[in-house]
Amino acid sequence: MLEEARKLLQTHFGYETFRTGQEQAISQVFEGQNTICVMPTGGGKSMCYQIPALVMEGTTIVVSPLISLMKDQVDALLAAGIPAAYINSSLGFEEVRETLHDVQRGAIKLLYIAPERLDSEMFLNELQGVQVPLIAVDEAHCISQWGHDFRPSYRLISRMAGLFPNNPTVLALTATATPQVREDICRILDIEEEHTVMTGFERANLSFSVIRGQDRDRYVKEYVQKNEKEAGIIYAATRKTVDSVYDMLIKKGVKAAKYHAGMPDQERKSGQERFLNDEVTVMVATNAFGMGIDKSNIRYVIHYQLPKNMESYYQEAGRAGRDGLPSECIVLYASQDVQTQRFLIDQAQDPSRIPGELAKLQGMVDYCHTENCLQQFIIFYFGDTGAEPCGHCSSCSDERESLDVTTDVQMVLSCVVRMGQKFGKMMTAQVLTGSRNKKVLDFGFDKLSTYGILKHHNAKEVSNLIEFMISQELLAVEQGSFPTIYVPDGGRDVLLGKRRVLRKGAVATKQITQNDPMFEELRKIRKKLADDAGVPPFVIFSDKTLQDMCSRKPKSEE
Ligand code: ADP
Ligand code: MG
Ligand code: ZN
Repeated sequence: MLEEARKLLQTHFGYETFRTGQEQAISQVFEGQNTICVMPTGGGKSMCYQIPALVMEGTTIVVSPLISLMKDQVDALLAAGIPAAYINSSLGFEEVRETLHDVQRGAIKLLYIAPERLDSEMFLNELQGVQVPLIAVDEAHCISQWGHDFRPSYRLISRMAGLFPNNPTVLALTATATPQVREDICRILDIEEEHTVMTGFERANLSFSVIRGQDRDRYVKEYVQKNEKEAGIIYAATRKTVDSVYDMLIKKGVKAAKYHAGMPDQERKSGQERFLNDEVTVMVATNAFGMGIDKSNIRYVIHYQLPKNMESYYQEAGRAGRDGLPSECIVLYASQDVQTQRFLIDQAQDPSRIPGELAKLQGMVDYCHTENCLQQFIIFYFGDTGAEPCGHCSSCSDERESLDVTTDVQMVLSCVVRMGQKFGKMMTAQVLTGSRNKKVLDFGFDKLSTYGILKHHNAKEVSNLIEFMISQELLAVEQGSFPTIYVPDGGRDVLLGKRRVLRKGAVATKQITQNDPMFEELRKIRKKLADDAGVPPFVIFSDKTLQDMCSRKPKSEE
């Protein structure tokens, strides 16, 4: 059968060889093993069910959440002489009936359906008696509450599978599967773990960068003008920002289109068409744009604002460079975006999911603050191991000097401990910089010996330092009803003076001279800290006190 599959790849699709993973997935399907196939966007997942569908007797059913993609795929299959059809809400009653009739008489090799169809008993009844060798579940992460696009109807897939007497094989496909999502997919679709086909997540032609603390408008304008012949996508978190970035580019004479859910259907469609046909080079969009878009020559994807999590980020960034040519994926990071995303999470989610979403948002923030290879970060995040540093991301090519920031880190940690490890990053940064904010005063934090201890930095620098510490696991976040920070083992080692901390391009700890009015103040704080704990300045706690104070176990780690 594999021989036949290889021949079909050449005759029907015009490709010489299988890509990594395709052959394994296809042969497992031929063996009748339920399989999960995890490949990056553009990796060629469709082939894994399209070829078996041609080889095997009967009609393969493909469940897909993307109506626009369904039509494109079916059109492409029909053009290649493969009898395919789809059923979704874009069809009228008569069209659905006709299609079902074709299916029932065995004239269709691939039938694409939207998951919502499975809610209808009538629809399922119509399928009874159809010979179905394979059910392909595209975008299978939709089955998991942990995925970024949960669709309840996906849960009905296993019921559908039970309808057919000859026990069809199930093939689940996704690009974004964290270990948790993978487990969910396997459990719900009855897939054995060893039947996972996972190709590396690495996309060697993509160069990842995080740009922190720059004027974003200026960056985007300059970047787009420098690459004016290249196609690119600029993602923003809100419609309002899409509008303003779009207006800015148009004013500069850039050929751009925009796309978000607040626009009239017609306008959105025509913008998309113009982008796909290379009439405009830049698409400015919210995350509503891109699902099912197959444009291979996208040279860059810029996130003007922080994406909501790594899963969406990798999917969106992965739209660059599908043709394998070098392409760039850039996040423009500003710490206030974290608030925007948190607000969007609060608005959109059912409350029980908020902690999970906030934890994923933190993963995204960690990405923006890590000093390790970004490519490696992504691969680790998705549960793969063994990757080498890529050598060309913004971390790998950052040649700035590393400064010793151990003292600052110790000050932050001691403040977190003194505040009882039950407050957020913002509040901590305010206490450290000596803010007279009402909440700070109400809690009496101005009486803490660590109050104002980092006054010589501004609040933004301190909150960046806190994020850096989280990304280095010197601080950790507990996602309760609101996120709070606490000191994990890594931080304890630093507090105890067992470990030093280096940071690339750090703002040097200000050297305060004797004439500086701050000098006396800081001296007092340091002395008080030392007296409090009976230890030299900055190694503030004895082992024992520290352990008592740090004994709070985070709930979220169960
Ligand atoms: P995915 O669903 O994993 O994002 P697709 O199935 O849409 O990816 O495939 C992405 C592109 O790769 C398509 O243009 C497809 O035709 C192409 N492709 C798939 N398999 C092969 C192959 N074996 N050789 C060359 N190109 C392939
Ligand atoms: Mg796909
Ligand atoms: Zn790298």
